[in-house]
Amino acid sequence: MTDLTNLTVAQIRDGHRAGDFSAVEVAEAFSANVAGAKALNAFIVETPEHALAAAKTADADRAAGTLKPLSGVPIGMKDLFCTDGVQTTAASHMLEGFVPRYESTVSQKLWDAGAGMLGKLNLDQFAMGSSNETSYFGNVISPWKRKDGGNASLAPGGSSGGSSTAIAARLCPAATGTDTGGSIRQPAAFTGISGIKPTYGRCSRWGIVAFASSLDQAGPMARDVRDCAIMLENMAGFDPKDATSLNMAVPNLEAALSSDLKGKTVGIPKEYRLEGIDPDIDAMWDAGIAMLKDAGAAVVEISLPHTKYALPAYYIIAPAEASSNLARYDGVRYGLRALPQGAGLQDMYAATRAEGFGAEVKRRIMIGTYVLSAGFYDAYYTQAQKVRTLIARDFERAFASCDVILAPTAPSAAFGLGEKMADPLSMYLNDVFAVPASLAGLPAMSVPAALNREGLPLGLQIIGKAFDEQGVLNAGLAIEERAGFTARAEKWW
Ligand code: GLN
Repeated sequence: MTDLTNLTVAQIRDGHRAGDFSAVEVAEAFSANVAGAKALNAFIVETPEHALAAAKTADADRAAGTLKPLSGVPIGMKDLFCTDGVQTTAASHMLEGFVPRYESTVSQKLWDAGAGMLGKLNLDQFAMGSSNETSYFGNVISPWKRKDGGNASLAPGGSSGGSSTAIAARLCPAATGTDTGGSIRQPAAFTGISGIKPTYGRCSRWGIVAFASSLDQAGPMARDVRDCAIMLENMAGFDPKDATSLNMAVPNLEAALSSDLKGKTVGIPKEYRLEGIDPDIDAMWDAGIAMLKDAGAAVVEISLPHTKYALPAYYIIAPAEASSNLARYDGVRYGLRALPQGAGLQDMYAATRAEGFGAEVKRRIMIGTYVLSAGFYDAYYTQAQKVRTLIARDFERAFASCDVILAPTAPSAAFGLGEKMADPLSMYLNDVFAVPASLAGLPAMSVPAALNREGLPLGLQIIGKAFDEQGVLNAGLAIEERAGFTARAEKWW
């Protein structure tokens, strides 16, 4: 039999339905890959029993003729989603040992659709980072290696680096991610897979450990565009428990997939042409433009004049919201409590937070409390909010003359572990192409488009109008069909 772990979500679903294999066989094959890939450190907790139980149900449902959309499909769950009875840490020491008594809306929807859980995926601590190196449980290692680059370990991207690695290494066919400022798209680009951040509000945030509430959005990561569509359909939907949840029907994204872009116009933002950027990135971008033209689209240059302020605005707004969200970790209500001998209440708060948060999280809390403090609020926070409005307006104007926007996902291919950790600013710069769509709440996806000269994957980003996930997926599909990206990391783990 073919190796079941090479199958996509759609292939697993269809093959299971046709009786080509059992769901139990699929769950066991992926669980074996998970167990054999400890060197990648993609999972914080493995839950083969959960995947197996869902698989048994799927096999019984097939016999009974009651299959669900994701019956027989085992997936990975980013450890930022609360899972009932399964430790949820946000990759922090603060939440080590925290076992929620409730299930996040998104994960519940996936279980209701028949999916099973292979485990909880590693990430940057509280989803803060671009390399997965801020995890309390150790960095994830990308399955990719540079061609002729020795054996250097590469970053899988972040914060959803466990998700990207697990999919690229065939430890799961699909996974959840969250994207606050690029955390689905950038790790997808780094590992040669696809991922979509839907419109803000499409997926409920209920039960997801909060980072920056006005930006956080869940979305799927998978090997191809079709799988992203299938997963997103089963993750999205109105949730009365999330006040920012969109009360809109979820479209049938998979059924409406079409790579025919006749009559569509693609915008190319001139401000995304960065001085001194890796020529491989620009070459991939130009190739992507040609692919979309080939699919029938017209191409126009557009201007997003406030792009250069997006990164500074993001790194004010996201830490500001994070500092407020993370105030809840006080040693009383969740996870860790540090109680020094003879300590009073204040000492307990301070000791718990000193011990429970990593360096990057503390940096964000300090930046956030600073920009929200009485003397600096207007100079930083209010100003950043104004910039955010201008950025959203840039997109609105641009979308008067185009349907989707094409740009690179990240300014470089995967960098080496340790290369950027000493310099937070260079790490933050990696998000330069990702954060504008986040600030504007727009749907955006990354699809693998090329290998660079080091043999590493590069991703193209498609940004769409609010609520137009379909347009984004369709343009993604047009690229996928033409880029013919089939490269995968050679197994060394
Ligand atoms: N890299 C960005 C940050 O560190 C984005 C993270 C995310 O999207 N969760 O804030």
